Amino acid sequence: MHAFHRHKRPVLITLLIAVAVIVVGIIIYLVLSSISANQSQQERLVEQNDITRSLDVSYPVFKIEKVDTQLEAFAKKQSDAFAAKIRDSQYDPRNKLVLSFAVPHIGDRTISVVFEKSEKIAEKEPALSRHILNFDVTSGKRLSFKDLFRPHTDARGVLAAVLHDFFDTNQSAELNDEQLGKLRDLNLDSIRDFLLYEDAIMLYINPKDMANVKATQPIAIKKEVLAAILNDSYAVADPAHKPDSEMKPAYAINTMPRPAPRPVSQAGRIALTFDDGPSEHTNRLLDVLAQHQSKATFYVLGHLAHRHSGELRRMVQEGHEIGNHTWLHANLTHLSTAQLEHEIGDTQRVIQEVTGYTPRTIRPPYGATNDTVRAFSAGYGLHEVLWSVDPKDWQVHDSTYVYNQIMATAAEGQVILLHDIYGSSVDAAIRAIADLKARGFQFVTVSELFGY
Ligand code: ZN
Repeated sequence: MHAFHRHKRPVLITLLIAVAVIVVGIIIYLVLSSISANQSQQERLVEQNDITRSLDVSYPVFKIEKVDTQLEAFAKKQSDAFAAKIRDSQYDPRNKLVLSFAVPHIGDRTISVVFEKSEKIAEKEPALSRHILNFDVTSGKRLSFKDLFRPHTDARGVLAAVLHDFFDTNQSAELNDEQLGKLRDLNLDSIRDFLLYEDAIMLYINPKDMANVKATQPIAIKKEVLAAILNDSYAVADPAHKPDSEMKPAYAINTMPRPAPRPVSQAGRIALTFDDGPSEHTNRLLDVLAQHQSKATFYVLGHLAHRHSGELRRMVQEGHEIGNHTWLHANLTHLSTAQLEHEIGDTQRVIQEVTGYTPRTIRPPYGATNDTVRAFSAGYGLHEVLWSVDPKDWQVHDSTYVYNQIMATAAEGQVILLHDIYGSSVDAAIRAIADLKARGFQFVTVSELFGY
């Protein structure tokens, strides 16, 4: 009896332990499978017709259907392309396609996968290549480099300026003036390979030779440096679900470029012009112009002169130029002499009446002019002034966009067309005036620029 009982108990305990092990196993499985959506698993592509076992193709699986489908399709495509290449020598045991991958970043917003491909066909040397695929987690969309940027921003110009300024001051890179110039002409389409990390974007270019896509170097740029142009989803930090694999950039751009202020003589003079006003936004623009001892030209409409007489008088007192922009924003090329007399003549007279100042320049609305208009204007002693830079602020009411346009095109002798009737344009000008002054530019009126 005694012995019998002693024998029975271990069986029961073993059974209980077995049940416990199974329960714990299930719990561990459930926990792991809930995590694994944020991790990746490896899948191997097995082709039925891989007779000589020439394929070693693997790809990650994230349990995000849209992403996984594309990764599998990518692996399949490589395998199919290889199969087509070895069609005539498919029994050659030297044939080998190896597709391996690494996952540098898995975040809430983006996933980046780097494939390394080695393709060996018969006696030929193996061909090595790298393929980087980036995905938006929410949409499952595979991202092109252009997808990272907000529409209506000068992404190309800003990125070019960031890279140019970085390599201009980075002695170790040893870029000459011609190479720096090419960097400034950077085309977003020329950037094929890039990676998204938690707080940086790595792009692969050859800074010395943008056309060379083979000898590229990894260049990491902090997301905050590009915050003005990146889409919101890609501008914010994207915490990684596993530590980002070590980032090994050849160059790391961690701060906004801050070019040393240059002497006035080196930067140049710019004429900022503001059309169609004055408006309720004009005074804060005048405040900032005064603060930076800068002058501008205002092409005002005659019919607004009495309503905004305060702004007009202030312009004259503070040394700005007032120009004639017609009474009601007319297309002057369609008008009779009597109508020209009203549009141009009455505008001259009302400005004189309100400010005591006589305009010396006219900007025909829409830039529409002809010999008749020019001859009529000359009768009032008016020089015709158009513009050399149109940041399209009348079309895009986005101050960052307009600011970037101004910054990208600022150069000696430019006449920049803006409109002080839009708050976004005035905001953009206010930012640009401070930043271009810091770079050594001088803001002058058009008559000063052209010597009228
Ligand atoms: Zn206008």
